Amino acid sequence: MRVEVARHAGICYGVERALKLAEEAAESGAPVRTLGPLIHNPQAVQALRDKGVEVAASLEDASEGTLVIRSHGVSPAIIAAAGEKGLDVVDATCPFVRKAHEAAEVLVAEGYTLVIVGEPDHPEVEGIVAHAGGAALVVEDVADLPATLGTRRVGVVVQTTQSAERLAEIVEALLPRCTDLRVINTICSATAKRQEAAHEL
Ligand code: SF4
Repeated sequence: MRVEVARHAGICYGVERALKLAEEAAESGAPVRTLGPLIHNPQAVQALRDKGVEVAASLEDASEGTLVIRSHGVSPAIIAAAGEKGLDVVDATCPFVRKAHEAAEVLVAEGYTLVIVGEPDHPEVEGIVAHAGGAALVVEDVADLPATLGTRRVGVVVQTTQSAERLAEIVEALLPRCTDLRVINTICSATAKRQEAAHEL
């Protein structure tokens, strides 16, 4: 079997940054937990554990020390609740995810009905919905768009790891149904480069 590695592969910027922040937090010697695994890689999670960074499945599992928020981000309510528990929060939300939060906030503040292109149950999307104040329609593909939108002013943001093709399909379907359609492309550059590199293979 021949294995070819794409031009862009491996750990992305946001996850690498989160790993580094967790390792730095552990250097203090205080208990450090990440809210969920920082990376979908058991060996890397174990390597962190060896450095003193444990995984908390939920906020209830973290009673003291430092809580690291992973690159997917979380709702503002979780950060607030962690602070109220007296935890020292290290927010490792990826800057690209933060841009999606900000884009959603701006669109809602400007009166757009928010459509998020992404997986409804993905933690990143749950965080974007929360930053939008909870009022957002999450669609994975064109078939998820409801028959009636109830508005002709729609703002769109995208889960950072979605494909540009998927976004384009949904925008194309929305266009004839809107008089004011604003799209903020929040696909991250790491994802875009990986998709391009995969197409090249
Ligand atoms: S937004 Fe992009 S760079 Fe950031 S964690 Fe997700 S995939 Fe990685």
